Amino acid sequence: MAKKIRQVAIYGKGGIGKSTTTQNTVGALAELGRKVMVVGCDPKADSTRLLLGGLAQKTVLDTLREEGEDIDLEDILKDGFKGVKCVESGGPEPGVGCAGRGIITSISMLEQLGAYENELDYVFYDVLGDVVYGGFAMPIREGKAEEVYIVASGEYMALYAANNIAKSIAKYGKTGGTRLGGIICNSRKVDRELELLTEFAGKLGTQLIHFVPRDNVVQRAEIHKNIVVNYEPECNQANEYRKLAKAIDTNEMLVIPTPLTTDELEQLMMDYGFMDQ
Ligand code: ADP
Ligand code: MG
Repeated sequence: MAKKIRQVAIYGKGGIGKSTTTQNTVGALAELGRKVMVVGCDPKADSTRLLLGGLAQKTVLDTLREEGEDIDLEDILKDGFKGVKCVESGGPEPGVGCAGRGIITSISMLEQLGAYENELDYVFYDVLGDVVYGGFAMPIREGKAEEVYIVASGEYMALYAANNIAKSIAKYGKTGGTRLGGIICNSRKVDRELELLTEFAGKLGTQLIHFVPRDNVVQRAEIHKNIVVNYEPECNQANEYRKLAKAIDTNEMLVIPTPLTTDELEQLMMDYGFMDQ
């Protein structure tokens, strides 16, 4: 019997650390022997470069533009760290068309070419998303990704974006199968960040699945086009990503979230002393 592929979407404010966290966590899952495909859903197309060690990856949209509709799976899917399958959706030429179209095109292309039949345990979608609209909502709107993790930090705009994403999951989850699996804190070293994120996750009806510390080894690995678990496998940060990978691998808490009102979110920030100082 074919086992079910866990389709996971990673959302969060731009620059919060989605691509870094996704690639390192996927690297740690690959170390555990899991078969994973990563689908980059950001027009920046930087969701797989660390897993590919800088190997040039042509995006699905660029490939379609240059080679027409008749493409092979290997044109758009490359093997990265420990056999992780890497795809970049890409974006339209600047100023032309909907930036989210790449995701829709890529997923249907991957389906047509049989990419989801390769004995995969996981597909991870690394999705741009301060707001979940248009094509960027597609993985959750169409129920492609049934499991969402939101990357956030103790900064107001990161929590504001996370709360908006939770609103989208709540909206689409009522009719579809999409659920929130947890909040990943990618630390910005804000005061009482662990407590704040734990309370925020609780108010959403979910969990803080892991607190990832801020560590310069992430940048050092990035300059070498590498993930931390491969670049410095023994360091503490590598173990943090392994803990997050384990937590996702064993997670059974999948909920329809209960988003906060803007007043509630502001009150939470005030309780933690971020306003009125
Ligand atoms: P996003 O995909 O959400 O836009 P990125 O993953 O590209 O964000 O991360 C933005 C920057 O933050 C990158 O340069 C990355 O090296 C850095 N970064 C991410 N997570 C950490 C961390 N835990 N510690 C230190 N730097 C980090
Ligand atoms: Mg990114």
